[in-house]
Amino acid sequence: MKQRLMTPGPTPVPEETLLEMAKPVTYHRSAGFRQLLAEVTEDLRYVFQTANPVLTLTASGTGGMEAAIASAVPSTGKMICLIAGRWGERWRNIGKALGCEVVSVTSAYGQPVEPNQLAAALGEHPDAVAVCATLCETATGVKNDIAAYGKIVTGTNCLLVVDAISALGCVECRTDDWHIDLCVTGSQKALMLPPGLAFVSVSDKGWKVIDAAAPRAFYFDLRKYRDALKTHDAPFTPANTLIRGLRLSLKRMRAEGMNAIWTRFARMAAAARAGLSAMNLTLFASAPSESLSVAMVPEGIDGNALVARVEKHYGVKLAGGQDSLKGKIVRLGHMGYIDFFDVLAALSALELVLLEMGHSLEPGASVAAAQRVMAESINVGQGVGNAARVDR
Ligand SMILES: *Cc1c(COP(=O)(O)O)cnc(C)c1O
Repeated sequence: MKQRLMTPGPTPVPEETLLEMAKPVTYHRSAGFRQLLAEVTEDLRYVFQTANPVLTLTASGTGGMEAAIASAVPSTGKMICLIAGRWGERWRNIGKALGCEVVSVTSAYGQPVEPNQLAAALGEHPDAVAVCATLCETATGVKNDIAAYGKIVTGTNCLLVVDAISALGCVECRTDDWHIDLCVTGSQKALMLPPGLAFVSVSDKGWKVIDAAAPRAFYFDLRKYRDALKTHDAPFTPANTLIRGLRLSLKRMRAEGMNAIWTRFARMAAAARAGLSAMNLTLFASAPSESLSVAMVPEGIDGNALVARVEKHYGVKLAGGQDSLKGKIVRLGHMGYIDFFDVLAALSALELVLLEMGHSLEPGASVAAAQRVMAESINVGQGVGNAARVDR
């Protein structure tokens, strides 16, 4: 059976990237590697929409988050964590592990943290040094309004630190325009790669703070990455196999253009949501992200069994809920190397399993609703704007 990986990370990897990464391992203290790192660093700036260098770390996404806090927030420094779910909680847990004082600002699961909650927290805690936020809260499918947060934080001495791991490269993310001081992403979500790389961009305001702080990490000290990058080097042995794959992902993204990518995923997400609603499911996120769609599992149906059956019978790997949402929601990832036809396949499989489990729905209604959304955006002669084909 054909397998479709449609979890909100990891995501599928294009065949050409897999083949590239199957080539022999190379030595990293070489002109060839320096050229590669220079090239991907330039392309990462484009994908991040920043004029600052983007640092590449060998770690999963959380490593990038920890590096951001260890480098930019002093021990006992106060950080305001905007928490709309499990990933917002990760900021709090990292802060606590590193001895920071954490102020939690929360929203109900399924809802974003409102910008006025942030404004109120800053008013109450004028001594805060960082605001930590999540662009896409992958646990609930909610998109937080980072642009609005940025407008509030930019006038203060605080740094805006953003986890954009399940969003950057799929969901609009304008690092510089939105005043994001440290922006973090990982390789295994929208960047179409296996897990193993984390990326962090740092603003001038961020570097001023980092340079004035006492080092409190060795491997995760971002200054080391910035300084090595001056000669297009990495401070430690880089995962250069993954970086070779990264080069291909970034070429693809540059060829299509960020605006076109954001539009394409916005359509795909609208189609997915229409499809889920048309099978009589309730959407979970009040402000949905373009990178995944989350629906509530109907009363009387076991969500864990539902997700397991979709995989076992139809080869589509979806994600269920985590922690208190376990068994209660189903999450369909559509970022990275996922196209509209994968989404149709997932909707179709979900319909069939829900029918089998006794949920009332009209067979085919979901697929038709998704197709209708896509049909609304047909451009004569160009289809609905699938990813550009890149010939190289
Ligand atoms: C996937 C994800 C992470 C990172 O998790 P790792 O397992 O460390 O790669 C962090 N934040 C969000 C929002 C995510 O979706």
